Amino acid sequence: HYRCRSAFKLLEIDDKLRILRPGLSVLDCGAAPGAWSQVAVERVNALGTDPAVPTGFVLGVDLLRIAPLEGAVFLSEADIADPNTLRMIQSLLPAEKVDVILSDMAPNATGIKELDHQKLINLCLSLLNVSRSILKPKGTLLCKFWDGYESRLLQNRLKEQFQDVRTIKPQASRKDSAESYYLARLYKGK
Ligand code: SAM
Repeated sequence: HYRCRSAFKLLEIDDKLRILRPGLSVLDCGAAPGAWSQVAVERVNALGTDPAVPTGFVLGVDLLRIAPLEGAVFLSEADIADPNTLRMIQSLLPAEKVDVILSDMAPNATGIKELDHQKLINLCLSLLNVSRSILKPKGTLLCKFWDGYESRLLQNRLKEQFQDVRTIKPQASRKDSAESYYLARLYKGK
């Protein structure tokens, strides 16, 4: 019932590392077509399906249109690197900050490996900037990157701002050899 196979990457990561739980508030960046948001809605109990546990919240953002999903709020046609997007995100959040930021964002690949790598690293750095305003202290950031010579720079930035940073290569991404995720936990905040 998932909109895209990418759901299995998040399920695999979350089964192993437990980043989503009932009651948490999640920002899903690069959310279209919405499969990660589907997983997040289930795992944070955004629909309140289980009345015995807290109800969470999911906001998805993408450059593209995202078809409505019960339990999620979507901000379509919005660029995460645009300062106006931050303001719109803030106006849609139920509280000032979120517990978890997910990013499966990817720029349109040119096929030039180094260029694609650099574009995605820059996108992750923009996201790190957004985190300053909307990620709770002790919060979690999961972001996709394509490996290359600037991965270490991103990793170092994450290490400055989070207590625990690890690299994850889900089985479900195996086909795509350059794709990995950084999981950064325990945000130090400002
Ligand atoms: N996780 C999604 C799912 O499970 O349905 C799939 C995400 S897809 C691999 C990557 C998405 O990142 C694309 O929909 C693309 O439009 C989005 N994206 C790329 N650059 C972006 C940006 N600057 N701001 C917001 N979204 C962006």
